[in-house]
Amino acid sequence: MQTSTNDTIAAIATPPGIGGVGIVRISGPEALAIARRIFRRSGKRESAVDWQPESHRLYYGHAVQPRTGQTLDEALLAFMRGPHSYTAEDVIEIQAHGGPLVLRRILDAALGEGARLANPGEMTLRAFLNGRIDLAQAEAVMDVIGARTDESLHLALEQLRGQLSAQVQAARQGVLGALAMIEASIDFPDDVPAPEPEALQAAIKAASERVARLLAGAEQGRVYREGLRVAIIGRPNVGKSSLLNALLRAERAIVTPIAGTTRDTVEEFANVRGIPVQLIDTAGINETSDPVEQIGVQRSRAAAATADLVLLVLDASEALTEQDEHVGAALHTLGFGLSNPDTQEDAPSQQAPEANGALVGRPVVVVLNKSDLPQRLTEAEATARWPGAPVAHTSMVTQDGLEALEEQVRALALVGQARPSAGNEALVTNTRHRDALRRTAEHLSGAMETLQQALPLDFIAIDLHGAANALGEITGETATEDLLERIFHDFCLGK
Ligand code: GDP
Repeated sequence: MQTSTNDTIAAIATPPGIGGVGIVRISGPEALAIARRIFRRSGKRESAVDWQPESHRLYYGHAVQPRTGQTLDEALLAFMRGPHSYTAEDVIEIQAHGGPLVLRRILDAALGEGARLANPGEMTLRAFLNGRIDLAQAEAVMDVIGARTDESLHLALEQLRGQLSAQVQAARQGVLGALAMIEASIDFPDDVPAPEPEALQAAIKAASERVARLLAGAEQGRVYREGLRVAIIGRPNVGKSSLLNALLRAERAIVTPIAGTTRDTVEEFANVRGIPVQLIDTAGINETSDPVEQIGVQRSRAAAATADLVLLVLDASEALTEQDEHVGAALHTLGFGLSNPDTQEDAPSQQAPEANGALVGRPVVVVLNKSDLPQRLTEAEATARWPGAPVAHTSMVTQDGLEALEEQVRALALVGQARPSAGNEALVTNTRHRDALRRTAEHLSGAMETLQQALPLDFIAIDLHGAANALGEITGETATEDLLERIFHDFCLGK
């Protein structure tokens, strides 16, 4: 990976394809010199070589290919003088018409004048390497771009603002403070007395508490960032496609009264009360001899296998059928938390949140659909069949019960947890951060134990170093080249 920051890089910063405006971004020491050659201001007599654009101001003119003098497009230019720019270096942005060919030609002109094509994420990497933002903030940039619900966006913006970093830094400073006490006494035994165990204990305890608070919301944060995969399962004709459409509030899957017409699985994104949800509609898990249907059934199983949560749809206007039982049994073999009476003994325990409130096991909501028709399947029957699973009554005709169902999905996803905007505590959304915090917590409890056993201070120092390093991975102080590579690899071009 390119981690040098002394050359000048360029990239098209807007998405590929056609749009009203497209932007070529150039960053580095030569950005302005290159811009003077590939941009001609309208109606100016002064030579471009002497041009000193004001920072953060737009100029109107034309992008040109200096080698041939050819005009490439009408354009606006903005110059952002470092360090007051995205990368903290001199940055030029040329706004032209948003056509792929136009932008490619402007980029080529910049490359021809000495810029190097930027790698994905390299602009943000530079912002990090130049110390404008830390690593957690750099990661937040991609979360802002990828956010699909208001809540996810809010959390990403908070992280970008440095809320999480501030709390991680506070914990790290506490650990480093304790470490400094120990190391000074080891290095200068004659001058510096060994720290009082009480002082060390207080410092370690304070850091542990901060880390524990951050970890407490991490599972909820993860759901907001990564979303939830929800499979809609049931025998044909119970209303799965109708439910999908209702949740999407759009006509996406084809709804027909003929059983088994949803042959493929359909995946769609839905915003379920702020949680980004990937909905998977399936062709119904049922045994069938029709080869096309069979493919569908296999896909359903596969879809259910990767889901975090299943909506098991039943037609409440009919009695339970053998097919319904098959579907339930199939879910059970996939490890979803349905205990049917015959196999209750070995049913995986479900609905029981872990201490930290994680989404445990594979929860199922039993959806008794078609509540607008005369009912032949009662909630009691469903509950007897699938104990422990929450039940929802819905009608896709009247849309009754839809909101309650959405609320059940949200509650299951965030089981036992407070809403993210509650309190001033930053919410950890990234599994990488969560893992680093878990390692920190282990080191801190190791340090505490060592302290209580009155072992030599060096031993405590080892764990405190471990804790400080793990925290530093979040904000980037102790991030290795490998880690940076992995993180920035997933960024988009031009960012
Ligand atoms: P799928 O095969 O499980 O995907 O079921 P569909 O969504 O294609 O629905 C099958 C049939 O049941 C269609 O004719 C729907 O209009 C109808 N249907 C779906 N939900 C309801 C409902 O809540 N009430 C009534 N009365 N009909 C419904």
